[in-house]
Amino acid sequence: MAQLSPLLKQATPVQAARGEGVYIYDTEDRRHLDFTAGIGVTSTGHCHPKVVKAAQDQVATLIHGQYTTVMHQPLLKLADKLGEVLPDGIDSVFFTNSGSEAVEASVRLARQATGRPLIMAFDGGFHGRTMGAAALTTSGAKIRAGIGPMMGGVTFAPYPFAYRYGWTEEQTVAFCLAELDRQLASTAPASDVAAFIIEPVLGEGGYVRTPAAFLQGLRERADRHGILLIVDEVQTGFGRTGKFWGHQHAEGVTPDVIITAKGLASGFPLSAIAAPKAIMEKAWPGSQGGTYGGNAVACAAALATLDVVLTEGLVENARVQGEKLVAGVRDAAQGIAAIGDVRGIGLMVGVEFVTADGKPDGATAAKVHAAAAEQGLLLLTCGVYGNVVRMIPALIVTSEQVDEGLALWTKALNNALS
Ligand code: PMP
Repeated sequence: MAQLSPLLKQATPVQAARGEGVYIYDTEDRRHLDFTAGIGVTSTGHCHPKVVKAAQDQVATLIHGQYTTVMHQPLLKLADKLGEVLPDGIDSVFFTNSGSEAVEASVRLARQATGRPLIMAFDGGFHGRTMGAAALTTSGAKIRAGIGPMMGGVTFAPYPFAYRYGWTEEQTVAFCLAELDRQLASTAPASDVAAFIIEPVLGEGGYVRTPAAFLQGLRERADRHGILLIVDEVQTGFGRTGKFWGHQHAEGVTPDVIITAKGLASGFPLSAIAAPKAIMEKAWPGSQGGTYGGNAVACAAALATLDVVLTEGLVENARVQGEKLVAGVRDAAQGIAAIGDVRGIGLMVGVEFVTADGKPDGATAAKVHAAAAEQGLLLLTCGVYGNVVRMIPALIVTSEQVDEGLALWTKALNNALS
């Protein structure tokens, strides 16, 4: 008899038996309010009937129509339908299986399309665990430790995390853009840089919204130097931030490449990169592919997901419920010295725990996270020091369920901190 590898580390002790909407029921039939949504994946809620039906129908029709061998309808329909939500000019889509794989696909594309070697990523960013994606990741040492040497041709610039710098957002952006320019003129020659890769909201790195002025600054430098701007929307895409794409909070910024996964298919493994055809054409046909990429059942589930997100107004719901959630979390933080900052954009809400002298406090975040799980509220932590507790409910969450979550959160804070 084989056992589960100890390599796996689970954030909560829950043994899930079934999921329904924003709830998970464990093997003892205890109900848990799931404010993790499978790490921002089950945006339409667990087992949305339309997604279930689409997947069931597709399973009975064609499970695997391997896309480098034969083309299949769900993939073609999905590519077509994504045109409705992609920014103007981004008209070409390539499918993969996971966020990491799509990140790697974007790196291959950027290097082939520009003929340049360097990828510039940002401190605290998370782009995945496969070796190429891990090479771009600095959200925590555990992703990189002991597995080097990492893929070459990666360089890191500072990320404008104003709270940690202790400056205003304006000062932080000015500093980080100046430092970026210094790097482009020294350690990472601009003419060697194929792409910038950035998350519109730093996810695993601590739920920090990338200031619009920073994304605008990147766009401007990308245009000036012939560098591609890749936005990693794996966590922020599909309505999560209260706009369909996270980068849309930065007015005037259209990326060259968008990476999407997670919320795309409500839990089926599917990811994609999207870019103007003129960029995709510069890469070599057949240089990318894979056995399972664009799986037919996953594509059918994604089509249903997109339909639900658009017809049920989930992007707007994420904005409205996100505002309510962050306001409630701010209220609950009143008078609690251990909470240094509360941040939120749409349904990505982060609570930063700090010591008395303002240093990141991962131990307290872990205590609060565990206390919430005891109350039946499933949450996650993030941040370079693991000191941010984050809430990522499904985009279908109702006002009453936000109230329920806030009540459980308040109890968890009381239990953990008193
Ligand atoms: N990019 C971002 C921004 C992510 O949040 C994640 C997953 N947390 C990934 C990439 C990697 O995705 P996956 O785990 O599907 O490989």
